[in-house]
Amino acid sequence: MGSSKTAVDAQSAGGIDVKDALLVGVIVFVCSIFGIYTAPPGVLAAFWPTNAVLVGLLLRRRHPPGLAHWLAAATGYMVADLVMAHGWPKSAMLTCTNLMGVVTCYLLLSRMSDDYRALRHPRSMLRFVLVVASGGAAAGICGIFIHPVLFGGTPAYGFAFWFTTELVNYIAILPVMLTMPDLSRRLAGHKRRSDWPEWRIEQVAPLAAFAGSLWLGTQLGGPGVIPYPIPAMLWCALTYSLFATAGITLFFSMWTLLAISSGTLVIGANFDSQQAIMSLRVGVTLTALAPLTVASVMVARNELLSRLKHAASHDPMTHVLNRGGFMTHAEELLATPAVVRRPLAVLMMDIDFFKKVNDTHGHAAGDAVLVSFAQLAEGCLRGGDLLGRLGGEEFAVLLPGCSVDDARAIAQRICDAFAAHPVTVGDGATLQSTVSIGVGCWTHPGTSVEAMLSAADAALYAAKRSGRNRVVLGDTRKPATAT
Ligand code: GH3
Ligand code: MG
Ligand code: MG
Repeated sequence: MGSSKTAVDAQSAGGIDVKDALLVGVIVFVCSIFGIYTAPPGVLAAFWPTNAVLVGLLLRRRHPPGLAHWLAAATGYMVADLVMAHGWPKSAMLTCTNLMGVVTCYLLLSRMSDDYRALRHPRSMLRFVLVVASGGAAAGICGIFIHPVLFGGTPAYGFAFWFTTELVNYIAILPVMLTMPDLSRRLAGHKRRSDWPEWRIEQVAPLAAFAGSLWLGTQLGGPGVIPYPIPAMLWCALTYSLFATAGITLFFSMWTLLAISSGTLVIGANFDSQQAIMSLRVGVTLTALAPLTVASVMVARNELLSRLKHAASHDPMTHVLNRGGFMTHAEELLATPAVVRRPLAVLMMDIDFFKKVNDTHGHAAGDAVLVSFAQLAEGCLRGGDLLGRLGGEEFAVLLPGCSVDDARAIAQRICDAFAAHPVTVGDGATLQSTVSIGVGCWTHPGTSVEAMLSAADAALYAAKRSGRNRVVLGDTRKPATAT
């Protein structure tokens, strides 16, 4: 039974693999036809997206490519060249050159950690440039041999031509492929329109500045206009995602090259030689590395900041909010209009005879009880409720939109669940602890978090005095002092 299931799995995986490989072949073919069609007369291709798209595609798949994928890619290149009447020998030489660069880039990038590969590390752009330069050099080595045969140039020129062409295309396109969000994951957690961020002026301004600087270049002209959009692109890199910045830099490279060749952007230089064109392409593409580097550093910085923020506001042992985090979140919640208009409850919870647990079973057993209580309390709460460890074995809960009866019911649920929940500690013993809870409720706005906590604390001490393992409701008739 098990072996037949494995055989079916292998068969279906094989089916998916062939389909997947076919898709790779078709994408290579379509990109190559696009590249060949956009070529001016006498030039192989002005813009050759295939190699960068193929490297990105192979890296973004869940599994490493198999022989089928490489064969499909080679077929895609060959068929496109043959369709464009390049003949067998020329098509084979061009396919080998393309694949040399692709294989080199793929092998080097696939050995990088996810963070580096997705350009999310401060130093990832440096490694990325080294990798694509290696891919360009691999294609350049092929160029040494095929360029004299196909186009009659010198071997040195063959290297320079293939190296720069590959470098330009990889730097322009590959960042978009490597930073593209996972579409399937995005669609699975599809956002409703109301969840989308609102577009505010400060979010639109960098893009407007970028468009404005491109337009200004067309109006002023001259050799200095190429880097005009750099400040706006740096602003974009500080504002938008890495993927959006990669898209903007790709647009910048393509726009600048196309606008110069069509005469929309007049820079006053003569582009009548291949060397001049190559120099322009490399210059424009390298210019785009500046905003990409800033965006990459920003990703690393933002991730570090959010980790630091989380560490500063959470208790490392129980993973619930610490006192500071609880107070900050509670104050933010109280400032929310939807919360202000509704009743609100606070629970103060203190584990009973906790010192005895430490004294009898050791500090580690006490820690296990704390972790277990935090998990159990969290399980009794709703999504918008706040749970925090205020210190030692004291926890607090803020229940927005909760009536007196509901708050008492939730507190009783936590109290009963904890009393019924044995905690297994390191020495194998099971401990049965209890908790006392004080409840405070407010139906009017303007009460401070501190005032609520101290009222619930008074109720907690009443619970301790009257025997522990119980819930006591604070005085809810008198409104608490407004601040
Ligand atoms: P009561 O029922 O009156 O609340 O008595 P209690 O023993 O729970 O209260 P008491 O304030 O006397 O003791 C609290 C103990 O909690 C003392 C302290 O050593 C211990 N404690 C504080 N923080 C931690 C911690 O992070 N881990 C462990 N294991 N113990 C802690
Ligand atoms: Mg205590
Ligand atoms: Mg206690």
